[in-house]
Amino acid sequence: MIPFNKPHLTGKETHYIYDAVGTGKISGNGKYTQLCQVFFEKKYGFKKCLLTTSCTDALEMAALLINIEPGDEVIMPSYTFVSTSNAFVLRGANIIFADSGKDNPNMDADKIEALITPKTKAIVPVHYAGIACDMDKIMQLANKYNLFVVEDAAQAIDSFYTGKDGIRKALGSIGHLAAFSFHETKNIISGEGGMLAINDPQFIERAEIIWEKGTNRSSFFRGEVDKYGWVDMGSSFLPSEIISAFLWAQLEELDNIQSKRKHIWNQYYDALKDWGKENGVELPMVSDFATNNGHMFFLVCKSMEQRTELINKLKAEQIYSVFHYLSLHKSPFYTDKHYGAELPMSDHYSDCLVRLPFYYDLSDDDIKKITSCVISHKYNR
Ligand SMILES: *Cc1c(COP(=O)(O)O)cnc(C)c1O
Repeated sequence: MIPFNKPHLTGKETHYIYDAVGTGKISGNGKYTQLCQVFFEKKYGFKKCLLTTSCTDALEMAALLINIEPGDEVIMPSYTFVSTSNAFVLRGANIIFADSGKDNPNMDADKIEALITPKTKAIVPVHYAGIACDMDKIMQLANKYNLFVVEDAAQAIDSFYTGKDGIRKALGSIGHLAAFSFHETKNIISGEGGMLAINDPQFIERAEIIWEKGTNRSSFFRGEVDKYGWVDMGSSFLPSEIISAFLWAQLEELDNIQSKRKHIWNQYYDALKDWGKENGVELPMVSDFATNNGHMFFLVCKSMEQRTELINKLKAEQIYSVFHYLSLHKSPFYTDKHYGAELPMSDHYSDCLVRLPFYYDLSDDDIKKITSCVISHKYNR
């Protein structure tokens, strides 16, 4: 049996958890939280990082930080996970969905400007499969219309974007704010877990307050104020040291994890590219400005029937592939709230995209078995 996902352990997780428990400081913002946050700041150039209990939480922090209010409009793709929109819906925003591109499921940057109104407050690009959105175009629009950009970088750890200026930047370091996930289905994991990256320094102080239940506890512990109290709204967004200790064990192996995952991705790509061409099935397209971070490998079939056939064929050999994301504008909660055009590309990915098994411990033999099974499947054109 080849499952779709299998969480990878580096071996040191329980060791660091044992250590965290032994120090007697197991609530949040201790040694391991600091180690992880500084690691990300140094490696990827984020101005400030705060670990959270999920990417969902990091997105909710972002919505609080940019003061989303009832009636504000937030532009994002429809082909994404519910948390991208829930975070803003919780603050009363109306979600304006942009269609995906023809080349890949990311939102089409050329379709955003027509959706901007005086009520628009933010754009939320999602770097699907860790492949960058066209950030130059998105940041230009944000500057022109004075909007905030919150990157949903849940899938995008260790992936990059090269702008027209030729400078390569980590995904999550470009927007004003960015949210990452360490859910067990992502590249780097802590079971549940996430992180807010803050790139616009005006948000740093308030982010720490919102993170710590609306108190200035973080500055109190640094000795910057002599008492702490309730200074703003907030919630409990910080993870315990037990979670951070787990994450630290993963971060020590980040380069190794990434090179193995990219190896898997490349094997899939090389084995399937000719078959894809011959059968009209699309493989992931990594634009010139983007990189591939080995987060997922997907195929885009020509129709839902073809996708179902492929999934069933794999399943018959005990290989578990999955599809996801019913377009959010068509989901039960939002269909009557959605105003605006049809989103044909979003629906296309919803109907036709299939994700192949992808995890660190997937062996070369497993990949051969999967790709042979896919290749033996011929479509009538
Ligand atoms: C996984 C994911 C999330 C949610 O992450 P959690 O850490 O589970 O809250 C949000 N957006 C996208 C695009 C994701 O893939």
